Amino acid sequence: MKITKVEVFRLPTANSKQNSPIGCRVYTDTGLTGDGEAGIAYGVGGSAAFGMVCDLAELVIGMDPLQTELIWETMYKKTFWGQNGGPIIFAGIAAIDIALWDIKGKYFNVPIYQLLGGKVRDKLRAYASQLQFGWGQVGVSEHLWAVTPEDYAHNVKLALAEGYDAIKIDYFDRDEEGKPLSFLDMTGILTPKQLHMVEARMKASREAAGDDVDIIMENHSSPDARGAVQLAKLAEKYNIMAFEEPNTPTVQTVEYIAKYSSVPIANGERLFSRWQYAAYLKENLLQLAQPDLCNCGGYTEVKKIADMCHTFDCGVQVHCAGSPLTTSAAIQLECALPNFQIHEHHTCNRMDTSLNLCKYNLQPENGYLTVPDLPGHGNEFLREAIDRAYLYKMVDTPR
Ligand code: MG
Repeated sequence: MKITKVEVFRLPTANSKQNSPIGCRVYTDTGLTGDGEAGIAYGVGGSAAFGMVCDLAELVIGMDPLQTELIWETMYKKTFWGQNGGPIIFAGIAAIDIALWDIKGKYFNVPIYQLLGGKVRDKLRAYASQLQFGWGQVGVSEHLWAVTPEDYAHNVKLALAEGYDAIKIDYFDRDEEGKPLSFLDMTGILTPKQLHMVEARMKASREAAGDDVDIIMENHSSPDARGAVQLAKLAEKYNIMAFEEPNTPTVQTVEYIAKYSSVPIANGERLFSRWQYAAYLKENLLQLAQPDLCNCGGYTEVKKIADMCHTFDCGVQVHCAGSPLTTSAAIQLECALPNFQIHEHHTCNRMDTSLNLCKYNLQPENGYLTVPDLPGHGNEFLREAIDRAYLYKMVDTPR
């Protein structure tokens, strides 16, 4: 079997300025195809990721799609900039790699999890992620930003009413008037007023959730290590399950935070490749790893990261915030991991930005996702969505 061409596309959504997934479809001479995604749907860098997938596609034309290790190493080592790369490189590699594993699953007529060791779990516990944005109805764009402690409690109750018993909240992204906090507001030693605001929100959400609900505290790497320690001290009072992205991760600063906090630390969406994870794991600075399958090199790389985490007693939750394809792809890996911790169900995976992109749009029921048994990762971009792409390239000539 040989790869004949790769179609690369960036898809418009109901809110393309904020969220616009980048996908690819790999074609073979057997007629089998596979779909992948580069996990840069939001933030800055989507055009670069689109271009990266196009450039990498040129390298793989003519190769055997089942040779995923060989192709991965080729993309990593024969690109000059691949080694020790960042999100754009690894998102590009991920998009191609995920599509190849999709082909591999279809070729052997099995779900990808069978190729990764088989299911460890039939159902995956999911958490309602980013409740500070609200928790609107599925398929509707409802950003109901939480500002007051009562808002936070309200959003928690919305998620609990759907059966979730785990949630994630950023308590420190808006001020008491609802104005977004700037990076200057969040840098340095935090003021007592800021800490009182965060604690009131944390207390309200814990009271609304009750004692049996897991709460992850999200921080989006916004404070620095000094503020992160102050926030961690609050988190200890409210039995926070994990403290996600306390600061911009560096081994030295996370070491400082871990020294002064007993809250388990989660990091991953800003770490790329097994080499970057290794530096944190060997110092025991990671208790919940959150590699993004779509910007960390795909199945070939994230399975290795997950296994390495297992040897350091570190759980895994795949970071998941793109099109519905990302959810389908993520759960194939997560269900095969003995050290799976929990699945992230992001509020963006419920909004209208997720509609009309993919064949399936999986949603948890009663807080759990069921893993489908379709061949490959079991999802695909819709042809009519690809036809609406505002960035599009068919790559059919080798480099
Ligand atoms: Mg996060």
